[in-house]
Amino acid sequence: MEVVEPGSDLREVYPRIFVGGQSACRAGSIGHAVVHACKSPCHQSALGYRGSLPVDDPHYLALARDHDLWLNLIDPPVPLFQMESFTRFLAFAAQRLDGGATVTIHCNQGESRSASLALLLLARHVGVLAQESFAAARAEYLRLDPRYRPGAGIARFLEEHWAALGCVCPRCGS
Ligand SMILES: [Zn+2]
Ligand SMILES: [Zn+2]
Repeated sequence: MEVVEPGSDLREVYPRIFVGGQSACRAGSIGHAVVHACKSPCHQSALGYRGSLPVDDPHYLALARDHDLWLNLIDPPVPLFQMESFTRFLAFAAQRLDGGATVTIHCNQGESRSASLALLLLARHVGVLAQESFAAARAEYLRLDPRYRPGAGIARFLEEHWAALGCVCPRCGS
């Protein structure tokens, strides 16, 4: 059972899908998977590095271990993202959600990266948001999560790559 403390930025945007900022960081467990959608501090501390990992490190984009997924995501004003970060996220979150777990997605502020991932999960796996464009899905997601404020870079990335950002889990994958 998730306990949301007063004043916390953690919110349940959809049954069993929570979005929050850094205060929502916790270790995942069998009934409660956690997606850490920030390079600093979570991806860095999970892998024990400072600065940046070499791009050829096998965990450069993501590390999944048991009930946690750490993503090397920053929130730049330009769309410096890679498709694989999003497809790895969808595969992890879809599997945990379909297994009955709660999924918490957090970043630093809980407004851009984490909420964008929740939007993607709801559109592409859960199938409860408009499919045709990021703009259409975004308008519907804002009704579930009025705190959504995507950075310019991630918004542009999702807009430009929307059609290709599909869920490849066993239920959705072709
Ligand atoms: Zn974290
Ligand atoms: Zn799926």
